Amino acid sequence: MTQHMKTAICPGSFDPVTLGHLDIISRAGKIFDRIIVAVPVNPDKRYSFSVEERMDMLRAVCAAEGIGNVEVDRVEGLLADYARRKGAVVVVKGLRALTDFEYEFQQALTNKKLNPQLETMFLSTNAEYMFLSSSMVKQVAGFGGDISHFVPECLLAQIQSRLCPPA
Ligand code: ADP
Repeated sequence: MTQHMKTAICPGSFDPVTLGHLDIISRAGKIFDRIIVAVPVNPDKRYSFSVEERMDMLRAVCAAEGIGNVEVDRVEGLLADYARRKGAVVVVKGLRALTDFEYEFQQALTNKKLNPQLETMFLSTNAEYMFLSSSMVKQVAGFGGDISHFVPECLLAQIQSRLCPPA
């Protein structure tokens, strides 16, 4: 990696990855040289998909979309320390609505204290995905609803088979 290459981190649980996430990752990929999509390992939280499954889905969709400058990795411990180890200068997050703001602002300020070299940048959501979240996908799928407008097409079958009730 050359010195002037700018690496950004897109962190998230991606349980599962949605078109809203993908929009942020691909836009960040156009701004920065290298993107690391970082999935925190949090043993205390219950997820629908394992860390490995979520990482595999992220890799598959980035490959399908032709986003070449992306790596997918897991993060154990603090994101601020992970960023330092990877030489990343920026954390890129998507902002949907005011409800995202307070939490994201708190995280950004905490990360800045822990790693003063690390900036947080917010990309505003694409208006089409403003209401979209992984938990909404889980809720709709759990009731047998159509999630094809919310998740990448190449992952639809895999996501449905985990989240949709048996017919
Ligand atoms: P979710 O809220 O969907 O469970 P994550 O915790 O995986 O998402 O979020 C990872 C990042 O992606 C966060 O910065 C979040 O704000 C952003 N994000 C999630 N969904 C969207 C969306 N529809 N539009 C823009 N950003 C989004």
